Amino acid sequence: MSGILKRKFEEVDGSSPCSSVRESDDDVSSSESADSGDSVNPSTSNHFPPSSILKREKRLRTKNVHFSCVTVYYFTRRQGFTSVPSQGGSTLGMSSRHNSVRQYTLGEFAREQERLHREMLREHLREEKLNSLKLKMTKNGTVESEEASTLTVDDISDDDIDLDNTEVDEYFFLQPLPTKKRRALLRASGVKKIDVEEKHELRAIRLSREDCGCDCRVFCDPETCTCSLAGIKCQ
Ligand SMILES: [Zn+2]
Ligand SMILES: [Zn+2]
Repeated sequence: MSGILKRKFEEVDGSSPCSSVRESDDDVSSSESADSGDSVNPSTSNHFPPSSILKREKRLRTKNVHFSCVTVYYFTRRQGFTSVPSQGGSTLGMSSRHNSVRQYTLGEFAREQERLHREMLREHLREEKLNSLKLKMTKNGTVESEEASTLTVDDISDDDIDLDNTEVDEYFFLQPLPTKKRRALLRASGVKKIDVEEKHELRAIRLSREDCGCDCRVFCDPETCTCSLAGIKCQ
């Protein structure tokens, strides 16, 4: 796993097209200040060969885009009302304004990403281990086990999981979360009351997506046909 991330880090250090990376304007400002210096104080320009238009054009053409830092805006989580998950309500959203900003160098950011991903992977492996342990204790759920019911992720130590030898790709970190987890995340972010209205709205949206078209079979009755009523030509 560290191999993958290391390669990524090197790619990032080159010129990543990542949209969250801010463009450095070092080149622009240095050439501009040199030009203005020439016009304000001509004596200094004596030390340099006279600047020609051709030369300037060449310099402009070789100008590259450089990335100097990554600015990350942090938002608190709140109930979303923006997405339609396949089940349940309690969608994850973010507050309209960020609550903190952090600036990273490209290297720092890559390390921070690695740290976060490792933490997520660790949680995931511990949960997996917990589930397999519970299944073992209850013989695949056929036997009652007092011990299994009291077991939590906190009982799983890092020695029980193999964090270093687990290969994962970027996609792994963007898996959909079940409703129970979303609710837990919202509560952890300080959402005290989850609006149940969202759940009802989402159910209605999912239902409306399931049935499309009208009930017309052989003949179309424009009076009751939902196509006709909506001004769409019925098939
Ligand atoms: Zn019809
Ligand atoms: Zn129709």
